[in-house]
Amino acid sequence: MLLSAWLASSALKAVQRQHLKMSSIVNAHIQVLGTGVNELAPSFYLFTDSKRYVFNCGENFQRFRSEFRLPLTKLSFFITHVSWRNLGGFAGAAMSSRDHGVPSLPLYGPEKLEDFVELTRYFTGSKKIKLLTPWSAEGSKTMSPDVYEDENVNIRTVSLYSSDSHSDSDLSGSPQSKRLKVSSNTAAFVCKLSDVRGKFDVAKAKALGIPPGPIYKQLTAGKSVTSTDGRVVQPHEVLGSSRIGPVMIVVECPDESYIPSVVCNPLLSIEGFSASNQIVALIVHMSPAHILKDQQYRKWIESFGSTTKHLILNESMCPTELALRRYLKVQVPLHLMNPSVYHPPANTPSMATALEYLPRESIVYGQTLLKYHLKPATRIGEDGSATLGSLSDEYHKHLQEIEADKLLMNSIKSSVSNAGNKKTAESKKSVPSKPLVPKPTETDNPILTFLGTGSSAPTCYRNVTGILVQTASNGNVLFDCGEGSLSQIYRCFGTERGNEIVRNIDGIFISHIHGDHHLGLLSVLLRREQLQQSNRDPPLLIAPDLLLTWLRRYSHTIQKVSYRSVDCKALEKSSTTKPVFSIPTELDFETVPVLHCKSAYGVIMRHASDWSIVYSGDTRPCQALVEAGRGTNLLIHEATFEDNLVEDAKTKMHCTFGEALEVSSKMCSKFTVMTHFSSRYPRIPTVLMDARVGSKVGVAFDCMSIGLKDLESLCVDLPVLKKIFSHVTEEGEEEQSVSYQDWEHEDAAA
Ligand SMILES: [Zn+2]
Ligand SMILES: [Zn+2]
Repeated sequence: MLLSAWLASSALKAVQRQHLKMSSIVNAHIQVLGTGVNELAPSFYLFTDSKRYVFNCGENFQRFRSEFRLPLTKLSFFITHVSWRNLGGFAGAAMSSRDHGVPSLPLYGPEKLEDFVELTRYFTGSKKIKLLTPWSAEGSKTMSPDVYEDENVNIRTVSLYSSDSHSDSDLSGSPQSKRLKVSSNTAAFVCKLSDVRGKFDVAKAKALGIPPGPIYKQLTAGKSVTSTDGRVVQPHEVLGSSRIGPVMIVVECPDESYIPSVVCNPLLSIEGFSASNQIVALIVHMSPAHILKDQQYRKWIESFGSTTKHLILNESMCPTELALRRYLKVQVPLHLMNPSVYHPPANTPSMATALEYLPRESIVYGQTLLKYHLKPATRIGEDGSATLGSLSDEYHKHLQEIEADKLLMNSIKSSVSNAGNKKTAESKKSVPSKPLVPKPTETDNPILTFLGTGSSAPTCYRNVTGILVQTASNGNVLFDCGEGSLSQIYRCFGTERGNEIVRNIDGIFISHIHGDHHLGLLSVLLRREQLQQSNRDPPLLIAPDLLLTWLRRYSHTIQKVSYRSVDCKALEKSSTTKPVFSIPTELDFETVPVLHCKSAYGVIMRHASDWSIVYSGDTRPCQALVEAGRGTNLLIHEATFEDNLVEDAKTKMHCTFGEALEVSSKMCSKFTVMTHFSSRYPRIPTVLMDARVGSKVGVAFDCMSIGLKDLESLCVDLPVLKKIFSHVTEEGEEEQSVSYQDWEHEDAAA
C-alpha cells in the first residue's frame, strides 16, 4: 500500500475507533490552571462525572491544587512536551499523592516521558507510589502508548516530531517513519468525549411489551432483552439516535520545527474529523505566540472553521495574574505592622497581545480557573464564573477587614509607633505597581528575601525552602531552591526587577537531596540561561554529589542546562582539593557536613567586607556548624518542630525551636532567623508565640525582605502578632490538611 493511502486509512480507522464508546456521562468541562503568566506553566484539568485528567504539571501545581482545593485522587496525567516547564511540579504531585495513599499515577504523552519519569523515581522512591507510563515495566501491561480510553473519554496520543531531528521528509509519525527517528518528546492529544446516548422511548418500550423496571436499564446499557411475549428487543428499537461526542485537541508546538508535524498530520486534520462526522469543539493551544502567528499554523487553525473555538494558554497572550492569593491574608496585616519588611506583592501590568487573524468570538484567552464546558451540548462554551477578581480589590478587601477591627488596628498602630518606625503603612487602596523591596546599596548590607519558609510540601501560606541574598556590588546568591522559588521571586519583585535579579544570580547552594530544597532549581537555571548576558559566566552551583549526578543525567537526557558546579565536599574546610572558581564577587563559601541525610550540608558565606551568613540546611543540632559559624552576623537555622515534638525531630533528623535556639546561643550569632517550619503549622508556628523570640531571634515568613544591618526590626511585638493570627484563624477557614508525612525521609535511590 502506498504510504499516503496507508496514512489516510489508518487515520480514518483511528477516528472510527474513537466512536465505539457510549456512556451516560452528562457533564464534561475543562478548567484552566496555568496560563504561563499566573505562576504556573500552561496546564488544565479535564473534569468528567467520574474522573479527572490533568494536562501538564509545572512547578507550583501542588500549590495551585491546595489554594483552589482541587482534587488529587483519580488523576491521570497527559503531557504535551517533555520539559521542566511542563513537568516541574510532577515530582511534588507524586510525593503528595503518595502521602495521600494514592498507589499509582498514570502518565501519557510522548515516548521521551519515560526518561523523565525514570529520573523522577530517583526522588519519589519506587516502592510506595508507582509512576506508570506505557513504556514502564508495569505500565506496559495495561497502558497503550497511543490510546487512553475509559467510559468518559478516548484520548489519542499523536506524537509530534521536529523536522530537525530526522532526514525523512515524512513528518506524519507513521510507524515506518518512526523507526528512523529519535524518540519523540512532544505529543498532541485528540480527546473524544463519549457519544451521547439517544433518549429512551418509554411509549415504544411499552408497545413492544417491555415492563418498566431494571430491564429498561439493560436496554440503555446496550443489551438486548426479551419481552413478555418472548420477542427479543434490540436497544436501537427503543433508543433515539445517539449524538457523537465532541472532540477537543490539545497541542503544543515548542518551536517552528514541529509545525509541519502538526499541520500535515492526518490525525490532526479537519478532513479526518469531518469524514467521521466528528465535531472539533475546542483546540487548546499551548504553543508560544510566534507559532500561532506562523502562516502554516494559521492555515491549519483556519481550516477548522467557525464551529471550532480556540483556547490559548501561553506567556504572551494571556493576561498577567497573581493567582496564589490566600497568602494575602497573612501578608496584609504583616505589611501594616512592619511595611519595611513585609511587602505587598508586586502587581505587574498585563502586556497580553491578541491573535488578530481569528474573529474575537472564536478565541478564548486563558485565565486562572476559567472553565470551558464540552458537555452537555446545551452548555458548550466558556464560563468565567470561577475566575479570579482584581488583585487590588482583593488586597483592599483584606485591608478593610483589618481596619474594621478597631482593636486590632489600634494594637498594630501602637506596635508601629513603639518600634519607632515612622514609615507607617498607608492604607493603600491598591497594590503598588512597583515592588517596594529596597535594592541593596551598601556592600556590608546585603538584602535577604525569604522565598519559602516551610518544610516538606508547600502550603498556601508557606512555600518550600528558598532564600535569596542580594549583594550591592556582587551577584545574587540562593540558599536552596524549592519548587516555585522562581515564581516567588517574581511575586516579590515583579517582572522587570525579577528578571534583573535572576540575571544576576551567580551562586546557588543546595543543601541536600530532599525535594523541598531543590525542585525549583531547574526553573531558575533555565530562566537564568534565557536572560544570560554574554559577559557573565553561568551560575556556580554548589551542591551535593547526589544532586549533581541527577542534574547531569537530566541535562543529558531531557534538556540541556547551563551551569558550573562544585561538589559541596570540595568546599569543606578540610578539603585539600579546593576548586578554583570565579564568582565575580568577594564571596567565599565553606560547607559543613550536617546531621540529616546522606550528603547533607550547611554553609557559611563570608564576604570580603567582613560579614558572614550561616545557613543550616536541614539538620539535628550540629556542633561542627556551631564551630565553623562562630560569631556570624546571621544564622538562618531550621526549626521544623515545636519543642514538644522532640521525638519527631530526632527520628526525622530535624531541630525543634528550642534546639535551634541552643545552637544559636552556642554559636554566638549576632542574630538568628528561624525557618523551615513543618506544614503542621501552615500559617504561623506556635513557637512564634514563644517568649524566647527576643531581640536577637526572628521568625521567617514568605516574601519578607530585610537588610543584614536591619535585622533587629524583625523583632515583632508578640501580642500584636498573636492578634493578627487570631484574626486570620477567626476567618473560619479550616487548618490546612497536615497529613503530609515528611517526604524527606525517602532515601533518594542512587
Ligand atoms: Zn527540608
Ligand atoms: Zn531534608
